[in-house]
Amino acid sequence: MTDTGTHRRTPSTATFTSRDPATGRPLAEHPVHGPEDVARAVERGRAAGVRWAALPAARRRAHLLSWKRLLASELDAVAASVAAETGKPLQDAELEMLLTLEHLSWAARNAGRVLRGRRVRTGLPASNQSASVVHRPLGVVGVIGPWNYPVYTPMGSIGYALAAGNAVVFKPSEYTPGTGVLLARLFERAVPGFAGLFTVVTGAAGTGAALAASGVDKLAFTGSPGTARKVMEVCARSLTPFLAECGGKDAVLVTADADLDAAADAIVWGALGNAGQTCAGVERVYAVRAVHARLCDRVVERARALRPGTGPDAAYGPLTMPGQGDVVRRHVDAALAAGAGAPLGGTDAPGSADPAEPSGGPFVAPVVLVDVPEDCPAMTEETFGPTVAINAVADVDEAVRRTNASRYALGAAVFCGSRREGAAIASRLRAGAVSVNSVLGFAAVPALPFGGSGDSGFGRIHGAEGLRAFTAPQSVTVRRFAPPVDLTSFATPSAAKARAVALTRWLHTRR
Ligand code: NAD
Repeated sequence: MTDTGTHRRTPSTATFTSRDPATGRPLAEHPVHGPEDVARAVERGRAAGVRWAALPAARRRAHLLSWKRLLASELDAVAASVAAETGKPLQDAELEMLLTLEHLSWAARNAGRVLRGRRVRTGLPASNQSASVVHRPLGVVGVIGPWNYPVYTPMGSIGYALAAGNAVVFKPSEYTPGTGVLLARLFERAVPGFAGLFTVVTGAAGTGAALAASGVDKLAFTGSPGTARKVMEVCARSLTPFLAECGGKDAVLVTADADLDAAADAIVWGALGNAGQTCAGVERVYAVRAVHARLCDRVVERARALRPGTGPDAAYGPLTMPGQGDVVRRHVDAALAAGAGAPLGGTDAPGSADPAEPSGGPFVAPVVLVDVPEDCPAMTEETFGPTVAINAVADVDEAVRRTNASRYALGAAVFCGSRREGAAIASRLRAGAVSVNSVLGFAAVPALPFGGSGDSGFGRIHGAEGLRAFTAPQSVTVRRFAPPVDLTSFATPSAAKARAVALTRWLHTRR
C-alpha cells in the first residue's frame, strides 16, 4: 500500500515483478496485497473519507486542483512510468496525461455545481412540505484498473469519485502497478493531512477480488467483460454496487460523400495507435461500396508507413500483455481462412515489421483485412491488436445494422460529408459515445459521460453522470405547516379522507 502517513506495518510479504513489455526486463518489485492489507486500506479510507466529505465543496476543489497542478509539473515522470510499464511511445503517454489533466480539472471544478442540493416541486398532496434532493458521497470507492491507459482510464473513476467526496482504494493492473503507486504518492504530496484518502493496493486477480469483497461502497471496474462477470459475482454477495467499463468492438461508418483522406487518417490512428490496445479503438469499418476500394487504398498506404518498435520513429509499441499476440494471430488467421483478403499484413502477422526488433516478439506489424465474414472473431471479438477489418456495405442502413449487431456497444464513429446527416446516423447507433468526422472525439470532452452497454459494461464515468455515479441521492422533505387534511394521521376523520379521495379523483379524471 502507498503510505507516507502513520501506518507502517503491512502483513504482505509476497511480491511480484513489473516488466518492460518490449524486452521482459524487470522494472520493479511490488507487494502482493492480500485481504488483510485491502481491509486496512478500506478502513483508513473510511476514516479519512468522513473528514473529506465534511469539507465544503470549494475546499475539495482546491485540494484536487493542487493535485492536478502537481501531476502537470510531474508530467514527465508520470508519462515515463506509463511508457516504461506499457511499452507505448512517450508521446502517447504524454497525450494520456494531457487528457487526464483536463478531466481532473473538470471534475474538481464542477463537482460542487453538479452535486449541489436542489429543490423539487412537491405536488398537491404534499403542498405543505418543501422537498429537495442532495447527492451524498458513498464512502469508500474501490477502483480496479486496466493497463492500456493506466492513468487516463482509472482516473475517470478516481478523480470523479474523490471530487464527489469519497475516499478511493485503487488496484492498478499488475502490468502497471508503478504508475498507480506514483499517482497516489503525488496525491499525498499535493493533499497533505488526508492520509489514507487515496490508497493504492497492488497485486493481480487475488488483490482485485479482495477489494471487491472488502465492503467498499461501490466498485468501479475497468477491464475485460470476462473479468467483469467474476468481479460482479463477488460484489453480488454483499450487494456492493458495481460499475463496469469493459471492452469494445467499435465500428467506423463511412458514407459515399465522406472525406476519404480524413476518414483513412482517423481509421489508421484509431486502429493502430497504442498497438490497437484501446477499448474504444477502431476494430471494424463499414464503408459504402462506392467508396470501399478507395478508402482501403488510403488506409493501406498510411498503415504501410507505420512501424512498431521502441525507437523514436516507432508509431506504436509492443503488445503489453504476453499472449495477446496469439489472440491477434487467431483472429487474423480465422478471417483469412474464411475468405477475407489482407491487403496489408496477414498470415505472418504478428511479426515485426522492423528488422531491428525480435521477429514474432511482442511487436505486431499493421494488418488491414477486407471482406471479412461477419461471424469471424475479427468481427465479433475484441482483437486488441494493430489490425482493422474494412467491409463494404450496400448503404448506410446496412452499416448501421451491422454496427448494432455486435454484442459490444462502447464507441463508434461516422464519417459523412454532411455534419447534420452524420449526427442523424449517430443517433441510430447502439453505442455509448459516437464521434462524427473524427475518432475518439468524445474522450477529450470531460463533460461527456462515457460507458457502454452489452459486453461493454454498464454505468457511466466522466461528466455530470460520472460524478453522480459516485454518490447516493438523498431525498429530504421538510414540513412547513399542517396540511388541511392530514392523510397520514389516524386522527383525521374518515369523511375528510373521503373528500380528499373525491377531489383527487376529480383532478385526475378531468381532461
Ligand atoms: P482484465 O480484465 O484482464 O483486468 C482488469 C483488472 O482486473 C486488472 O487490474 C486485473 O488485475 C483485475 N482482475 C483480474 N481478475 C480479477 C478477479 N478475478 N477479481 C478482481 N480483479 C481481477 O483487463 P486488462 O487486460 O487489464 O484490460 C484490457 C481490457 O480493458 C480490454 O477489454 C479493454 O477494452 C478494457 N478497457 C475498457 C475501458 C473502458 O473504459 N471501457 C478502458 C480501458 C480498457
